[in-house]
Amino acid sequence: MKIVKIAPSILSADFTNLESEIKKVEKAGADLLHIDVMDGHFVPNITIGQPVVSAIRKKTKLPLDVHLMIEEPEIYLDEFIDAGADCLTVHLEACRHLHRAVSFITKRKVKAGVALNPATPLDGIKYLLSELSLVLLMTVNPGFGGQDLIPSALSKIAKLNEIIQSGGFNIDIEVDGGINKETAPKVIKAGANILVAGYAVYQGDARKAIKSLRGL
Ligand code: ZN
Repeated sequence: MKIVKIAPSILSADFTNLESEIKKVEKAGADLLHIDVMDGHFVPNITIGQPVVSAIRKKTKLPLDVHLMIEEPEIYLDEFIDAGADCLTVHLEACRHLHRAVSFITKRKVKAGVALNPATPLDGIKYLLSELSLVLLMTVNPGFGGQDLIPSALSKIAKLNEIIQSGGFNIDIEVDGGINKETAPKVIKAGANILVAGYAVYQGDARKAIKSLRGL
């Protein structure tokens, strides 16, 4: 089994104190920093863009795990890589030419991820698994923090894990949405190894929260 990594989403941070919020989760033992980019089209919400990613890059050594919840992400891949993304994830539903987007990211020596909404079947990514570093499964409908995990997500994680194991691929399974100390053991058991957490980490004692999400 892979080591479980915790990726706090800055979506739940206090944006007026972003630097200290990032330092807080860094000191608390976060493995990655998850950055949710939303455009108001692919998802109803609008969050942050490249200038903020680039500002964050200067303030932390944590790998930046950038999740593009935007239409036509192909147009912006270069800019987010230049801004400092270590891993760039695009949504299958938002890409007309998914393979082209993934190849573009890997050619620039950045880890490529593909994200799937809860209703999207796994079939659409099977043909490019050999090029992916991670598959992100949305465990809520994307757009807002603080939602409950959709129960059917667990069997989808398990199915993806089986596909990855049987194919011998080295791909992380990341889950995003509704992860807290109650749901974390379930998604880990199903095969997820990167857990995005927002509210669970930023509200209260971050170190304790990250430890309990790891199951320690
Ligand atoms: Zn995300």
